[in-house]
Amino acid sequence: MKRSEVDRTKLSPMMQQYLDIKDKYNDTIIFFRLGDFYEMFFEDAVICSRELELALTGRNAGLDERVPMCGIPYHSYVGYLNKLIDKGYKVAICEQLTDPKDSKGMVERDVIQVVTKGTRIDNTLNEKDNSYVGNIYDFEYCYGISYADITTGYFYALIIEHDQNKLIKEIVNRNILEVIVNDKINREIISILRDNYQILVTITDDICELENYHYLYKNIQDIRLVTTIKHLLQYIIETKKGDLSHLQEVEVIDIHKYLTFDVHTKKNLELTETIRLGEKTYSLLWLLDKTKTAMGSRFLRTNIENPLTDINEINKRYDIIETLLTEFILKEELTRNLNEVYDLERLAGRISYGNLNARDLLQLKNSLKVLPDIKRILEEIKYPKTIDTLDDVYDLLERSINEDAPITIKEGSLIKDGYSVELDELKSISSGSKDFILKIEQDERERTGIKNLKVGFNKVFGYYIEVSKSNIPLIKEEYGYDRKQTLANCERFITPLLKEKENIILGAEEKIINLEYKLFMEIRSYVKEFIGKIQRVSKVLAEVDMMASLATVSEENNYVRPIITTDRNVCIKEGRHPVVEKVSKSTYVPNDVIMGSGIDILLITGPNMAGKSTYMRQLAITVIMAQIGSFVPAKSCTIPIFDKIFTRIGASDDLVSGESTFMVEMKEANYAIQEATPNSLILFDELGRGTATYDGMSLAQAILEYIHDKIKAKTLFSTHYHELTSLSADLSNLRNVHVSAIEEDGKITFLHKIKSGSVDKSYGIHVASLAKLPHSLIERANEILAIYENKNNKKQSFVQTSLFLDTNEKEEEPNYLEEKIKEINPLEMTPIEALNFLYELKNSIKEKE
Ligand code: ADP
Ligand code: MG
Repeated sequence: MKRSEVDRTKLSPMMQQYLDIKDKYNDTIIFFRLGDFYEMFFEDAVICSRELELALTGRNAGLDERVPMCGIPYHSYVGYLNKLIDKGYKVAICEQLTDPKDSKGMVERDVIQVVTKGTRIDNTLNEKDNSYVGNIYDFEYCYGISYADITTGYFYALIIEHDQNKLIKEIVNRNILEVIVNDKINREIISILRDNYQILVTITDDICELENYHYLYKNIQDIRLVTTIKHLLQYIIETKKGDLSHLQEVEVIDIHKYLTFDVHTKKNLELTETIRLGEKTYSLLWLLDKTKTAMGSRFLRTNIENPLTDINEINKRYDIIETLLTEFILKEELTRNLNEVYDLERLAGRISYGNLNARDLLQLKNSLKVLPDIKRILEEIKYPKTIDTLDDVYDLLERSINEDAPITIKEGSLIKDGYSVELDELKSISSGSKDFILKIEQDERERTGIKNLKVGFNKVFGYYIEVSKSNIPLIKEEYGYDRKQTLANCERFITPLLKEKENIILGAEEKIINLEYKLFMEIRSYVKEFIGKIQRVSKVLAEVDMMASLATVSEENNYVRPIITTDRNVCIKEGRHPVVEKVSKSTYVPNDVIMGSGIDILLITGPNMAGKSTYMRQLAITVIMAQIGSFVPAKSCTIPIFDKIFTRIGASDDLVSGESTFMVEMKEANYAIQEATPNSLILFDELGRGTATYDGMSLAQAILEYIHDKIKAKTLFSTHYHELTSLSADLSNLRNVHVSAIEEDGKITFLHKIKSGSVDKSYGIHVASLAKLPHSLIERANEILAIYENKNNKKQSFVQTSLFLDTNEKEEEPNYLEEKIKEINPLEMTPIEALNFLYELKNSIKEKE
């Protein structure tokens, strides 16, 4: 039965209420609270029963047929909710707003929040991940992008040109899991985002005009930025509904301030996760992350994804690392203190949004406790920034919140003794009466002479006196015992005195719980005033934490401070790949990267498995590390600032979009060629491998020439086309380098050492034999190779211009004429024979044409 086909006049009032709400949330599954369950109805029920493997039942709602329904217990809904969100659904939580006990008619219900992929704030989120909800505003001549992390309140905006590919790259690169777009946007973009990148897309033109969020963009003049921000805000407010005052003033991103690279590069270089397993372990982030706080870890990730381009900023970071390395005792102390700091950014989010408990406040307190020490250390190491120590907040929390407060805030035990006179009085009344009750037990034992008489408590009867069956005859009328309950071996009684004390205790306890709740809320709103300050402290701590982590890693692995040059020369001595070095069992062979003036391209040849790809990645990772302000794995390192990195490494088919390796390869090459500047770094690893030999080689050469003549970007180009090495004769800024291997008794040892010049052997078959292919097969391959090598020797060596011609045909032509001419002896020919011969030759050429 479909929702749209229902005769609404016949429906029960509750089902009408449901449909009224559902109408407002068409694209969203509603978790409709009914007592201890969340129920789903109609199409929602069908979806949920399928996705969550729940039994589909029905509910009588006044119609002839039962309405499809399924449900989940409210106390364990989170798992179900997350499953739906992960699958790309949106879920609206519809709560009972009035207590069914108190309400006469229908219980009021409404949606309290909508949960979506980009707007989750529960504790199940990985604390080290950044995930954003974003907006794309299509202005038809440019795109406005804004995005926010609801858990921490970070908010960013930028404008980019009206280019579909760039737009998609920006969205995917920035970890935006969900986007809101205006209606003008090209539908193709939406399907790419949805299908290729599993990004949740919502189309709406609604814009937020609320004054209380004006502070977010008060300093932004560009109306386009303001529009995209307001567009996103509207969505966030509609879905989250609660207080969002932790949202931070929007930071406008100037893309030129960062070293940029696309998703493929991030993946190829294994910056935040490995290619094979998609895990953080063995990525660059894994190596560099010795941070102590979640904020520091997130900040490091953001920096790895967005390295800097400002020389001064970068040098400042080197200075800090240097100081931390000399002041190692202070650094130790600093990290020990940072270790005590909780995720202040997400705590701030919870303080404002409201799902906060006493334990969160204790975490806040414990974090604030170390701030004075951290502040002092920052001063001692002359750190360029300082922090507010928020003493008042700390004092308040120290005085007020009970050290072992429970998770719930509605059961009391939240507030410390001595914080509130009123609370203390209530507590003493309650405990005084409890003492009194203990005394009653004593008194009654004496009065009745029953030694095992007990005073107990349960929720149904309150306080009672319990007497075992055998002692019942000892109870006299005059004691005023009133029988309440008979159990198998005892009876329970109450007395007027007991009831009187009970009333006092229960009354006081209810008052205590209410008062504690009220006090807690007051403390929370006091702390809320400091959210801005807490966020500012968090930012500094995140940065300090990252710097301390970089210093630690530099020290442990013997990294060196890079020298940033303003010319374009690269000079890295004994550089290493930091992750391979760390993970590999054998010792890493350091290599130089020398690209002085007049060298833009290194053409790298060498057998498979020699270390070409590693060498290329090593340079890119060194550049990225240097530009996030870290020391680098080398003996010495002088490099310029790069603006962009492009890579084409390995054969990672884009399976999702169904494109072949070669197509992906060419697209990436094109992207690099279109976007690269003389200040960029290009890594092309065996480009052209995905197509026929001559095609691939020709393309590779043409691309090299193009980069050499037009782009002039620093380029590492590895190839197994040895013919390309002769290009160095024509391209003055190209140098050949090779990775050597030693061959002994048909076995091959890799030295992983980069040397200048080229090699002429590819050792492919040796590698195959290392891989233990059958011996006979290897021998056959060697035979075939010999034949090929003979053939090739006959051909002229490749020069630049000949590559684009069909070489086979060129070869055949002179052979034919040669053969014919060899057959004759001009000295023996008559003039007419000679003329006829010439005529014949001429004709045969014509035929060929
Ligand atoms: P290629 O791209 O030439 O086929 P790779 O770069 O993939 O070779 O490297 C092959 C193997 O050699 C890898 O397992 C890598 O760990 C190891 N390797 C590469 N370079 C070095 C080096 N400089 N020192 C030690 N091992 C290396
Ligand atoms: Mg390789």
